[in-house]
Amino acid sequence: MQVITPHIAMPDSEMPQTVPLTAFANRVQLCPSQSLRYDQAIGAFAAVSPRRPFTGLCASEPPAQFVSTRMIDSHCHLTDPRLFNQLEDVLARAKAAGVSRLITIGTDIADSRAAIAACRGRDGKVRENLRCVIGVHPNYTQQAMLEELPVLRDLSADPAVVALGEMGLDYFHKFADRKHQAAMFEAQLAIAAEVGRAVVIHSREAIADTLAIMRNVPQVRAVFHCFTGTIQEADAILTADEKYLISFTGPITYKKNDALRAVVKRVPIERLMVETDAPYLSPEPMRAQKVNEPALVMYTAATVAEVKGMDLGEVDRVTTTNAQRFFGWV
Ligand SMILES: [Zn+2]
Repeated sequence: MQVITPHIAMPDSEMPQTVPLTAFANRVQLCPSQSLRYDQAIGAFAAVSPRRPFTGLCASEPPAQFVSTRMIDSHCHLTDPRLFNQLEDVLARAKAAGVSRLITIGTDIADSRAAIAACRGRDGKVRENLRCVIGVHPNYTQQAMLEELPVLRDLSADPAVVALGEMGLDYFHKFADRKHQAAMFEAQLAIAAEVGRAVVIHSREAIADTLAIMRNVPQVRAVFHCFTGTIQEADAILTADEKYLISFTGPITYKKNDALRAVVKRVPIERLMVETDAPYLSPEPMRAQKVNEPALVMYTAATVAEVKGMDLGEVDRVTTTNAQRFFGWV
């Protein structure tokens, strides 16, 4: 197996603040009989070509021969002003990078309404490649009231909505009282059970309590998003319910996070999704780009491929299928 890197290696020191995403898009395309692997040592994609020499980013081949990825960024916050103010460009760059679908996540009731609105284009129709998840994030529960939550029931009927969340418990940030977080979480889970929707879980240093609350609604499918916990916590999630998935973000690409990559290795690919959580958590080697965006989800997928010894194309196929099934967006 021949690994050729010079065309695509881009050391951090040379990384401009604003990333030339057209160049990035070329780097993630898979050429016929070639594939790209993320090379941890050089912090870049490397072409792996068992049959013929690498011709350089597929640039000499007509675009029609590219094998494009269908990646879904299963969790981003497009209503954040840093992304919303350039929404059309963000969507275009995602498309150019082989990211076919995006799911934007609400963090409180107002943001959830904004997410539903963002899913619509200028013609008022739901955009083909964008859906949303609506709910109240545990860190935003301090100003939110239990009495407001029933509106989620009505909002969830909107065709742009594919799940409820992000909801859960956050004992790390301590922005909201634990009892209030739990009450808001329970109420949202009850609505999800009632309307038959999956949920997106935010759980930070609170996996045991999160799972304990979720035991009361065994019919609800869930993804534990932005997982950064231990192998033991991942095992607790995977064994709690076979309907639970685990989703990974940019931190799995960070050089110091070998322990987290061990968790990636542990989680079966059939129960794994990838996401950006943009505008937060830019992946390596793009951390100089302070505003993360869906186009960069490919780096997280590439690390999953590297850790599991799989082709990026196969990781793309399986995680995209997982996301489509989970959100019921086929
Ligand atoms: Zn999020």
